[in-house]
Amino acid sequence: MVKQTERFVSLTLVLLLAWAVAPLRAQTNPGQAPAAQRPSAASTGFFKPCGAAVTLRLTSAAARQGGLLELTLSSRGPVAQLKGEWAGRALPFWTGAAGPSAQTVQHALLGVDLERKPGRYELNLAGQLPPGDASFACHASIDVAAGKFAIESLKVAPGFVELSPEDRERANKESERVHAIFARLTPERLWSGPFRIPLTGSRSGHNFGKRRVLNGTAGSPHTGLDIPAPAGTPIHASQAGRVVLAENLFFSGNTVIVDHGLGVYTFYGHMKSIHVTEDEDVQAGAVLGLVGSTGRATGPHLHWSLIVDGARVNPLGIVGLKL
Ligand SMILES: [Zn+2]
Repeated sequence: MVKQTERFVSLTLVLLLAWAVAPLRAQTNPGQAPAAQRPSAASTGFFKPCGAAVTLRLTSAAARQGGLLELTLSSRGPVAQLKGEWAGRALPFWTGAAGPSAQTVQHALLGVDLERKPGRYELNLAGQLPPGDASFACHASIDVAAGKFAIESLKVAPGFVELSPEDRERANKESERVHAIFARLTPERLWSGPFRIPLTGSRSGHNFGKRRVLNGTAGSPHTGLDIPAPAGTPIHASQAGRVVLAENLFFSGNTVIVDHGLGVYTFYGHMKSIHVTEDEDVQAGAVLGLVGSTGRATGPHLHWSLIVDGARVNPLGIVGLKL
């Protein structure tokens, strides 16, 4: 009985995913294997000199679908005209605290969409350093491997997956709105400090990237992490930011999206109630609402998603980073 309930809960999430963040960069990846929920971020890192005065560091030179890399660029002085591009997209940078040798440090996050095609992707950086505005350039290749995601085949009553025309129209409109939000890039960094798991006491979740085959038809992957908790448990903002959506949506029920700036968004679904309003600035840890089972969910849990520069990544990947 419990098992059935769990299956039903997760089934609703699949439907949510189909909508929640349908591929911003749709690419397919056949042949996934079972789940590793925490993306790898090798502590050893990857270093590369970019000329005499600049050093590039990545948390790893390799990544998996749904993973997240942190880029750090250290230099002897302030960098002008800094530009970075990875896999064809411009990287938003922020300036970090100076290092022990009074260096200037720039940071960026490289999100790997959970459906990015495995392969080698090029990272290019360029900028200028005073005095004399000497230019520098740097290049690195990052290998993206297939993610390890679960696959589950289910047979369900046709009516369960087929929405009425009205529901379908509503869900599609909401999906377009959510996509439009994630496509926006707020140029300022609104967060400050490390990101946290939104539920106090929770250390993990499940179902990220999980793929379901319903009645023989492959569905969209589950784009977030499901964290079970009793109804009414407070949901805290992972970090500071601005609430850009706070309303009831068809699939994810009572939903809050927080814009943390620089293309970083967190998404919280199935809330019992919402305690913030759109355009409200929230501090890290602020209570956004309470855990519930609104929308297409049959049991209380938090659906938590993370978007980094358009990429749908495992939100646990940002929790350990010292941002
Ligand atoms: Zn979910």
